[in-house]
Order: sequence, then C-alpha cells, then structure tokens
Amino acid sequence: MNCFLHGNSSAVAVCKTCGKGVCSVCAIDKGVAVTCSDTCANEAAVLHEMNQRGKKIYGLTGAKSSLPSGVIVWTLFCLFFIGLQYSGTLRTTRSSPSSSDLGCFAA
Ligand SMILES: [Zn+2]
Ligand SMILES: [Zn+2]
Repeated sequence: MNCFLHGNSSAVAVCKTCGKGVCSVCAIDKGVAVTCSDTCANEAAVLHEMNQRGKKIYGLTGAKSSLPSGVIVWTLFCLFFIGLQYSGTLRTTRSSPSSSDLGCFAA
C-alpha cells in the first residue's frame, strides 16, 4: 500500500479512522492511534475514549475486582428466584398428597 497523499511513498501505517495508507511524513501519532489528519486524530481520540469507558463499564480495566458489581447483583437476583421456584415446587409436591391424607382422615 502507498500513502494516499504521496503516491510513490510506501505507507508505514493505516489511518485508524478512515483506513487510508499514510507514509512517515503524513502519519500523525497522538499516542492512541496512527491517523492521517488532525480530523481523523480527533475522531480516533474520541473512539479511544469511548472504548476506555466501555471497558470500565464492563469491568475490563483494573484487576482489583474480577466481576463488575452489576453481574454479582444479577447473579444473586437469579439465584433468589431459582430458590423461590425450587421451594415452591417442593411445597406443592409435598402438600398435595398430605392434604389428601388429611381428607382421608377427616372422612
Ligand atoms: Zn484518516
Ligand atoms: Zn504521505
């Protein structure tokens, strides 16, 4: 691939934002990504910022907590409902024969 501005210079990188090939003269490296212009550099910085926020939301940054609190709450919530359902099934299976036994005793 050649630089999109300098057709005879070979590209050293591809713009992170628009995908154009850039030579060493055109490449703008702002630390987060190599881009072809200031516009693309700003765009890449915004995208990078969004990525970082996304990682924080999903708990992908920092190793102090392996699970984000949202997942823990959700798991507890599910376990609570599974428990409710399980105890409910036990009660109905147990109570139906015993009530008929009581009915036999009453009659
Ligand atoms: Zn670009
Ligand atoms: Zn160039």
